[in-house]
Amino acid sequence: MGVSFDKIDGVSWLKFEIQPAANPASEKDRAAKLKDPGFGRVFTDHMAVVRYNQTEGWHGARIESRANFPLDPAAAVLHYAQEIFEGLKAYKRDDGGVNLFRPDANARRFRNSAERMAMAPLPEPVFIEAVEQLVRIDRAWIPGGEGSLYLRPFMVASEIFLGVKPSAEYIFAVIASPVGSYFKGGPAPVSIWVSENYTRAAIGGTGAVKCGGNYAASLRAQAEAIDHGCDQVVFLDAVERRYIEELGGMNIFFVFDDGSLSTPPLGTILPGITRDSIIALARDSGTRVREEPYTVGQWRADAASGKLKEAFACGTAAVISPIGKVCSASGDFLVSGGAAGPIAMGMRKKLVDIQYGRAPDPHDWIRKVL
Ligand SMILES: *Cc1c(COP(=O)(O)O)cnc(C)c1O
Repeated sequence: MGVSFDKIDGVSWLKFEIQPAANPASEKDRAAKLKDPGFGRVFTDHMAVVRYNQTEGWHGARIESRANFPLDPAAAVLHYAQEIFEGLKAYKRDDGGVNLFRPDANARRFRNSAERMAMAPLPEPVFIEAVEQLVRIDRAWIPGGEGSLYLRPFMVASEIFLGVKPSAEYIFAVIASPVGSYFKGGPAPVSIWVSENYTRAAIGGTGAVKCGGNYAASLRAQAEAIDHGCDQVVFLDAVERRYIEELGGMNIFFVFDDGSLSTPPLGTILPGITRDSIIALARDSGTRVREEPYTVGQWRADAASGKLKEAFACGTAAVISPIGKVCSASGDFLVSGGAAGPIAMGMRKKLVDIQYGRAPDPHDWIRKVL
């Protein structure tokens, strides 16, 4: 590949130098911002940064004041979009402690994303350490109640060079954003638009990795959804253009009248950690879960016949969003009469209770940071 990664292994000793912010937000300022943080607009005082170059490997691990990055105008990411990211949350428990949910799975996926994008893979222990250190230093920013601290690890190609090749330098960073409950007053069912003009992923492409480019390419389809009065877009497969893949940033499940669940198989979709957790929890309780292709035509027919009871989208940010209505160029149809279904809502509660430490954690998913 032309990139030497041989310095990477054995850096799990990488120690973070901690340099607390000189001018953190005042308590009053923070309280005002935490009152109604919304999603992704309020940020904490610090960030984690680790750098990579070919001579030093991963180095310069720091927790420092959140600030601008100096980026040369010729930095590779600004031209060829070598960028990947993750999303996970820190949850405040009733006892005042703090949980992370499956950060090892995010670290593994981040490493897989790096490999697909020909970027230097970050050792998983360094990813987890960066996240934990940031949560500890910014713990005062973690909202109570149904809020959480959204963590955004990401990596950009920073080499100054306009040639098309994998960058020889990278910046890995983690920033944090307190978020309120995604839905005020409980999850409202979303309406989704079936995109027939655009696809998000083909076999051999980047659909299964969390790279910014996938999102850039989905925005036009999402705008089309909004134009048609829908909340979200759902993509079909790129070959036959009839199998349901996923939403712009969430996976999808279907609930049938025999109690079984089905979800599109891995391959071109993003392997969601929420998706994986739902499959595990459903199987724990004896529910049959199929990972199999499902066409939009079948969805319409099953909704009409009553065979399909519910559909829901899932991801870290919103946990579970019931789908109430499906719109497409060939007409609209309702799912569970347009209301939030009991299976979606029950699964949501199950997952959220584990995340906040209110229910037992049979799969060892919780990592207590504080
Ligand atoms: C992040 C993401 C998801 C959800 O993944 P989680 O690990 O459950 O948060 C689903 N689809 C896409 C395209 C994503 O980027």
